[in-house]
Amino acid sequence: MENKIKAYNNILELIGKTPLVKLNRITENLTGDFYAKVEAFNPGHSSKDRIAIHIIEEAERKGLLKEGSTIIETTSGNTGFSIAMVSIIKGYKCILAVSSKSSADKIDMLRSMGAEVYVCPAHVSADDPRSYYQVAKRLHDETKNSIYINQYFNELNMEAHYRSTGPEIWEQTSGQITHLVACSGTGGTISGTARFLKEQNPNIKVIGVDAYGSVLKKYHETGTLDTNEIYPYRIEGLGKNLIPTATDFEIIDEFIKVSDAESAHTAREISKTEGMFVGYTSGAAMQALKQLDAMEVFDKDSKVVVIFPDHGSRYMSKIYSDQWMEDQGFFEANQVEEKQEIQY
Ligand code: PMP
Repeated sequence: MENKIKAYNNILELIGKTPLVKLNRITENLTGDFYAKVEAFNPGHSSKDRIAIHIIEEAERKGLLKEGSTIIETTSGNTGFSIAMVSIIKGYKCILAVSSKSSADKIDMLRSMGAEVYVCPAHVSADDPRSYYQVAKRLHDETKNSIYINQYFNELNMEAHYRSTGPEIWEQTSGQITHLVACSGTGGTISGTARFLKEQNPNIKVIGVDAYGSVLKKYHETGTLDTNEIYPYRIEGLGKNLIPTATDFEIIDEFIKVSDAESAHTAREISKTEGMFVGYTSGAAMQALKQLDAMEVFDKDSKVVVIFPDHGSRYMSKIYSDQWMEDQGFFEANQVEEKQEIQY
């Protein structure tokens, strides 16, 4: 036996190279073959590990970060967790301004990973001084030796996925992918992945998933930000009330909108049919597949890759809580699922 310890040097070496897993039962009535890129396999349990390490290491290469520097970000939770994780290993301080819409589990988790967390009101405009954007900007101005990740407006976000997620999917599908379906929040995942894939094969169709209550789909179609499209919704990490420059709208062929209720039920259905315990936006992405199938976007030769961005454990007090589902009126809104009976 070789006398060598087979261990990773630290947790960051596990970022990326996530598995592609065929979907079997939930896609039974859909036309084509469907594969999920399961981003929960990253050590921080989401796709955001990829951008955290890429942006932080680029800042190190540019000499912007040294031992003891501070990293600041606005985040729905996942990016924060990833930045906190990278900061611990690399010896930086992490400050996060998060929306009050984020689940309590996510906020507790960020604090457990050593981050300093500011919870800011969700339903104020981006230029309101209480918004998480303005709070993060102020903290950046006030903190010496700090960098602001600014994921919605940072081109390195897209580049992280251009360099990792795109090549991985191309290699894992042996170039046979015909459609990419991915949620759009900052738009970094879909834009960077799509840019790489379309460079290999321009015929690949790229479909972004947006939420009712978000402006992305309408902006893609009209080129203008329609504030009438904006209203509160429950899905975290998907859609936006502004136009992020981290999204390359040109590379996305179309957007499709999904509802809070159907996305929540579909996430629960993925867990029960495929044994994959996924987050809310994975449900949104899967819901989009069902709607696209009903629109006859796919044929029997389609090889569709859908990105499942994070893990279900982050939503125990939300979509995986029957009480929460009931409080939202989601059991009435969608009768596909019976409430679970507790057995004693
Ligand atoms: N799903 C979840 C759970 C997220 O946190 C995010 C990021 N906001 C997304 C999807 C969308 O990814 P992106 O920001 O790369 O568009």
